[in-house]
Amino acid sequence: MPAMTQELVERSVTELADIDWAARAAALRPETELFIDGKFVAARSGARFADHSPRDGRVVAEVAFAGEADVDAAVLAARRAFDKGGWRAAEPAWRKHVLLRFAELIEAHREELALVETLDVGKPIRESLTVDVPACAQAVRWYAELIDKTYGEVAPTGPDAIATISREPLGVVGAVVPWNYPLIITAWKIAPALATGNSVVLKPAEQSPLSALVLARLAAEAGIPDGVFNVIPGDGPVTGAALGRHGDVDKLAFTGSVEVGRAFQRYAGESNGKSVSVELGGKSPQLVLADAGDLDAVAEAVTWGVYYNAGQTCHAGTRLVVDESVREPLVERIIARTAEFTVGDPLRWDTVLGPVIDEAAARRIREHIVEAESDGARLATGGRPVPPATAEAATNYLAPTVLDDVPNSSRAARAEIFGPVLCVQPFRGTETGVRIANDTPYGLAASVWSADISQAHRVAGMLRAGTVWINTYDASAITTPFGGFKDSGHGRDRSRHALDNYTAVKTTWLAL
Ligand code: NAD
Repeated sequence: MPAMTQELVERSVTELADIDWAARAAALRPETELFIDGKFVAARSGARFADHSPRDGRVVAEVAFAGEADVDAAVLAARRAFDKGGWRAAEPAWRKHVLLRFAELIEAHREELALVETLDVGKPIRESLTVDVPACAQAVRWYAELIDKTYGEVAPTGPDAIATISREPLGVVGAVVPWNYPLIITAWKIAPALATGNSVVLKPAEQSPLSALVLARLAAEAGIPDGVFNVIPGDGPVTGAALGRHGDVDKLAFTGSVEVGRAFQRYAGESNGKSVSVELGGKSPQLVLADAGDLDAVAEAVTWGVYYNAGQTCHAGTRLVVDESVREPLVERIIARTAEFTVGDPLRWDTVLGPVIDEAAARRIREHIVEAESDGARLATGGRPVPPATAEAATNYLAPTVLDDVPNSSRAARAEIFGPVLCVQPFRGTETGVRIANDTPYGLAASVWSADISQAHRVAGMLRAGTVWINTYDASAITTPFGGFKDSGHGRDRSRHALDNYTAVKTTWLAL
C-alpha cells in the first residue's frame, strides 16, 4: 500500500469526516498563471477566463488563458530543454530520483490537490483525497521506478556486426486532457512521457485547470529542469488547436471525446504529421448471463460501475445487458441499491455522488432520459434533479437513474450520456447478449458475469473492448494497460505499454 494511502487509512474516518472541508476550500489561494519554462507567467495578451465550480456555480479563480503566442513560448521552452539534454540525457538514476521526489510532493500536498480537484470537478472530497491524489502519485512513482530498469535489445546479426535496438524519447509531447479525472489522466500521460526523457506541454481542460498548475509547481520543486514540464490552461478551439497544429510538437497524447480526438488526428495530418494517440469515449456493457450467481454482488458492482463520479467516466458501465431469466431480481436489487447513493455537496465527507460538471451537461442528460422514454424505455428510478443543501437553485445534482427496457436502437443505448444513468437491455440466449453488448460504435470496456468460468472466459474473448472484467467491474492497476478499440481510440495508457506512446525504436549498427 502506498505510504499516503496507509496514512489515510490510519487517520480515522471520523477525523477526516470532522474536517470542515468547505472552510478549507474557502481559504485556498489556487495557482492561476501559466507555467512556462519553470516560471508562473501571465498570458502575453493578459487574457483570463473564469473557472466555475460545479458545486455552486461560483467562480473559483480567474485563470490565465494561453493564446497562440503562449503556446508557442511553451513549445519553444520545451524544445530548448529537450535539445539541451539536461533531462533527456541525464543519468537514469537521477531522473528516477527527481520523479520519486515529485511523487512524494504530490502526496505531501494531497489536501491542496484534493480540494482544487473537488472544486473544479465536483467530485466528492473523499474520492479526491483517497483515490485521485494517491493514483496520481502512484503513477508518477511507478514510471519513475521503471527508468533505471528498462533495457534495450541486441539484434541477431551474425558475427560481423553488433546492432542495438534502443528506445529514444520523441521530443516535445503535447498532452491534452479532459475534466473528468484531471489528476489521474494527467499522470497517465506525463509520467511515462517524462520518465522516457521527453519535454511536455500540458493543456488541462478549461473546466479543471487548477490541479495541473499545482503539479507544475511541485514538479519544479522536485527538480524537474526548466522547460521540461509546462502547463498552459486555455480552451479547445484556441489553445488546444494551437498545440495540436504546432509544427514543433512531436507527439500528441489526447484523452477526451471522439469528435475532438478526430480533430487532433486532423491537426497532425495538416501540420507536421506528428504521432497521435487518442483515448476516447465509451458505452460499456455489463453483460450478465443466466448463471451470474450472487446477484447482490452483481448489483453492487453494476451500481458503482455506472454511478461512480456521477457517471462521468469514459468506461462507466452504462448498459446492463442482462439475461431475461435474472433480469427482474437483479433490477430490483439495483433499484434498492441506487436509493442508497447519496447525492450532495462534494465538500461533505459522506457524499457519494456530487453534481455533474455544469447545468448544460445536466440538461443534456435529462434530454437523453426523456428521449429514451419516448423510444419505449421505462423510467424505473431517478430521472430528476436533487437540489442540494448548499445550492438550492442548482439543477446539476442528478438522482442516479435506471432506465429499463431500453431498445438498442435508442440513442440512450448507443451514445455517451456521461451522467448517472443505467440503461437496462434484456436478452434471451448468450449469443444474443454478446451481439447486443458489442453493438455500439465504442469498445473501451465491458464485463461479463457468469459462475461458469469457462463460459465467462469464452465470452470475454468475444467482447470487443480494450478491457474486459470477469465477475467484477472497474478493477484496475497501473500495471495493466487501459485504452479502447473502435471509436474508443487507440494507444494505451498505464503499464509498460504506455512507453510505446512516448518513444521511438532506434537501431544502431556497428560493423566489426
Ligand atoms: P473534450 O473532447 O470536449 O475535451 C477534452 C480536451 O480537449 C479539453 O482539454 C478541451 O479543452 C480540448 N478540446 C476541446 N475542443 C478542442 C478542439 N476543437 N481542439 C483542440 N482541443 C480541444 O472532452 P471532455 O468533455 O473534456 O471529456 C469527456 C470526454 O472524454 C468523454 O467523451 C469521455 O469518454 C472521454 N474520456 C476518455 C477517457 C479514456 O481514457 N478513454 C478517459 C476520460 C474521458
